[in-house]
Amino acid sequence: MKRKKTRKITVGSVPIGGAGPIIVQSMLKTDPENFRETLEQTRQLKKAGCELVRIALPHEDTCKIIPFLKKEVDIPIIGDIHFNHKIALKAMELGIDAIRINPGTINNIPRVRQIAHMALETKTPVRLGMNIGSMEKRVLKKYTRPNAQAMVESALYYVKLFEDTGWTQLKVSLKASDIRETVDAYKKFAKISDYPLHVGITEAGPVFSGAIKSAIGIGILLNEGIGDTIRVSLTGDPVYEVIAAYHILRDLGLRKRGINIISCPTCGRCKVKLAGIVEEFEKEINQFDHYLDVAIMGCEVNGPGEAKEADIGLAFGANSAMLFKKGTVIKSGIPREMAKNILKEEIFNMVNE
Ligand code: SF4
Repeated sequence: MKRKKTRKITVGSVPIGGAGPIIVQSMLKTDPENFRETLEQTRQLKKAGCELVRIALPHEDTCKIIPFLKKEVDIPIIGDIHFNHKIALKAMELGIDAIRINPGTINNIPRVRQIAHMALETKTPVRLGMNIGSMEKRVLKKYTRPNAQAMVESALYYVKLFEDTGWTQLKVSLKASDIRETVDAYKKFAKISDYPLHVGITEAGPVFSGAIKSAIGIGILLNEGIGDTIRVSLTGDPVYEVIAAYHILRDLGLRKRGINIISCPTCGRCKVKLAGIVEEFEKEINQFDHYLDVAIMGCEVNGPGEAKEADIGLAFGANSAMLFKKGTVIKSGIPREMAKNILKEEIFNMVNE
């Protein structure tokens, strides 16, 4: 797949765009006035592989958390700001790594210009986040309903406004909850601009259905070479957003991180509770950065074949299991109830080797 070349910007220490890897982003869901819980969730996200964390800053007062988080955890923090431009000014003054503004909710050109001047002064990168549900009134006058073209037009207008102040460390997003509208907007924008793009499907839904919807929308765009950072928006634990994002990148061959589980759907031949084993295993191996193909298979029909092809694989039989490593059997006759832990031990060994 050929990636569209965008200009490079840097958020904290993370390069975005250019020829760099696609960056995984998520958003904190804790109350920003609760420092302890917010720090804990930031750490969980970082541990899961998140590379940029966005935080909602609903009031000027909530900016107090910025210096605290920056001191406690080493991950770039992006302030999410709506309605009140003064929050953006304050966040930049306090050293936030980047801000995300929606010109539609600020809805005031001179105030957005003030943000642009402050961004230039403090060298703060800015994401111009267009959202179909909150388009600026100026553009909406022209269109009968908010649509992809309206989002693109609005984005280009504000890009120009920032360029006119001399600040070009910008990233753009154009989100709609409808996949086709989102894809259409990103494609239109990418044709005429080389600013890096943050890609996601907004308000995608609960964990299961939202991950599928996001995988389709984000996957279509990435497959066309569009997208420099991604976020899978889910109603649920944000760690799932990070896991889902890496699944999308991995399945498209764009980034390899963590354990890739190859497991069979099971059928009447399977004599173990494979679904439970795989589910537990997936939860327990989330912390691994290393990429490994791990097969866990239900019976001798496809089990040995898949287990042999993987980096490491477990093939269950009628009474016991066999463990393969790099195509060779390294243990056989493993009691079924011990198989998952033995597999994990071997993976630890491989990761530490
Ligand atoms: S590997 Fe065996 S248990 Fe799994 S789906 Fe195939 S035949 Fe069924």
